[in-house]
Amino acid sequence: MALNPSDLYDIRSLLTEEERMIQDSVARFVDEKVIPIIGDAFDQARFPKELVPEIAAMGLLGSSLPEKYGCAGLNAVSYGLICQELERGDSGIRSFVSVQSSLCMYPIYAYGTEEQRQKWLPGMARGELIGCFGLTEPHGGSDPANMKTHAKRDGDDWVINGAKMWITNGNLADVAIVWAQTEDGIQGFLVEKGMKGFAAQEVHRKMSLRASVTSGLFFDNVRVPEANRLPNVKGLKGPLGCLTQARYGITWGPIGAAIACLTEATEYSKTRILFGRPLAANQAVQIKLAEMARRITLAQLLSLQLGRLKDAGNMQPAQVSLAKWNNCRMALDIAREARDILGGAGITTEYCPIRHALNLESVITYEGTETVHQLVIGRELTGINAF
Ligand SMILES: Cc1cc2nc3c(=O)[nH]c(=O)nc-3n(C[C@H](O)[C@H](O)[C@H](O)COP(=O)(O)OP(=O)(O)OC[C@H]3O[C@@H](n4cnc5c(N)ncnc54)[C@H](O)[C@@H]3O)c2cc1C
Repeated sequence: MALNPSDLYDIRSLLTEEERMIQDSVARFVDEKVIPIIGDAFDQARFPKELVPEIAAMGLLGSSLPEKYGCAGLNAVSYGLICQELERGDSGIRSFVSVQSSLCMYPIYAYGTEEQRQKWLPGMARGELIGCFGLTEPHGGSDPANMKTHAKRDGDDWVINGAKMWITNGNLADVAIVWAQTEDGIQGFLVEKGMKGFAAQEVHRKMSLRASVTSGLFFDNVRVPEANRLPNVKGLKGPLGCLTQARYGITWGPIGAAIACLTEATEYSKTRILFGRPLAANQAVQIKLAEMARRITLAQLLSLQLGRLKDAGNMQPAQVSLAKWNNCRMALDIAREARDILGGAGITTEYCPIRHALNLESVITYEGTETVHQLVIGRELTGINAF
């Protein structure tokens, strides 16, 4: 029996029936609703917001959080499969779901009060309220401890000043999770759209993640009530805890992008006739395709084991770093190679590889650059912090 080219090791057989059902339903949504429109959305630098209600109705927003807050209560492997299938469509769509779920709903759930959870989570699960996560600042995202944005207590309020940069969903957001220095260390605040002195400005001229909104956030004496502070965490471990959740999902996403590129390159090379025979009949091309399949298979096994560790409560941040580094690098290399196999046709968004390659330039940079993740593993191995 022929093997499945997208799953040479039958990794699907390691999934539960529920996990398979979730993967199939998201895959259907991506095939029917995302892939037909995403090339145009990318060309037009437009986030396809019209997809949000269906993404929400499928339970994909905050999917790992409890049903009590209107969420699906799924396990980590299911969340990973959701990310993989969405990013088979486009990294921008997966980024929207990652930010909403792991960077906004998760901190409200993990660090917030019950009132904050009730106020925000059900509406965010329904996609009626959108969130963004402001950690990175214009002067350097790899070193978040050197944060300049600060919040000062003033009576019953906090007054926030500073700026954040490269914020996904920034101009769409009803609420921003903003990390700021205080006299008591870094703390998180819920800054709401329309608060006086708070502005978002979209970043234009992006050549990557064009079907996603990226913004700068600006805080000019923004007065935020004490009720909008996340009380249950202090210090860098607050934002880093969110990033571990999001990075976990990001280890799965690029697998989807890589599968899309391998599929496109295989189909194209089978039908492109050069020198009197299909391009795919050349050893050089088959070796490239085989190399892609090898790297995808290894990434699939890595993310699945990471997910099982997470579901067992045993996942460590350095393990996430290794998978984020490996899988982003794998997908970026594959997208570029697939683009090459398509020749000139590969430079247009009629085909997916160039779009995925450009998107993956962001995915390998955000949530910790490749270098940052390598240094995390170096520190794990040596016990020496080389940052
Ligand atoms: C499309 C997009 C969406 C994003 N969304 C969000 C978001 O929603 N929220 C958010 O808070 N942030 C977001 N980011 C920001 C992202 O996390 C940062 O871009 C990233 O952390 C890198 O920070 P930087 O861009 O300031 O680069 P820098 O930190 O200035 O790094 C520049 C270079 O220096 C390297 N480097 C850093 N330290 C070392 C070292 N010690 N040794 C050797 N090399 C080093 C880096 O690897 C990199 O190559 C997003 C970014 C992009 C591009």
